[in-house]
Amino acid sequence: MRHWRLILLAIGLLGLAYLVHRFLPPQHNPLRPPNLAEPLGLATYGKLTALKYNEEMCRQKLSEAGVEFEIVAADGAQARCPLEETLILKQSLTPYSAAPLRMTCHQMAALHIWERHVLRPQAEKLFDSPLRQVQTYGSFSCRNIAGTGTRSQHSYANAIDISGFILEDGTEIRVKDHWRERSAKGKFLTRVHKKACRLFSVTLGPDYDAAHADHFHLDMGSTETCR
Ligand SMILES: [Zn+2]
Repeated sequence: MRHWRLILLAIGLLGLAYLVHRFLPPQHNPLRPPNLAEPLGLATYGKLTALKYNEEMCRQKLSEAGVEFEIVAADGAQARCPLEETLILKQSLTPYSAAPLRMTCHQMAALHIWERHVLRPQAEKLFDSPLRQVQTYGSFSCRNIAGTGTRSQHSYANAIDISGFILEDGTEIRVKDHWRERSAKGKFLTRVHKKACRLFSVTLGPDYDAAHADHFHLDMGSTETCR
């Protein structure tokens, strides 16, 4: 009698698992393949982490999302900061101020999701204006974390520094000037910083330390910080 109950329980659980898999929106379902065009969900961070370990799938997902990039061969010439094969961003939905932006694939994927599903909709929502440009201090840079002997994620092309945003209507939003301001610009920065924490392993802004007073640092390294 007892094992019949166990069998019924197992069938019930399998049925439940099937229904969850069948009807859960893909952005919340870790079993569905990554898709950079789908909105942020409970499974987005896990799927981005999966792309870290599957370079081929990562590039395919970028292409499917319409991101154009160039592959840069592993670079031993950077003696102090040798790089694995990386990508240079050619075109996303929004132009970036600095070029070339050289990044790991999963860093570029996280950046694209942030731009597409956070920056662009928030610009429309708060200012009723499309986003014209993302302003950045750059991505790859062979250096240590300021004031330490530890290599920065920038030295692995696994980070980007974002200083502000320009909208089509001419509005300029700068981390340096508008962070924590009680205004639409302040609200925009707070919102996009908070959402970045759901995509990047590390999101640092002016609240972290003085070195980040004028930009957001976003990286896909192995530690996790949101501040
Ligand atoms: Zn940085």
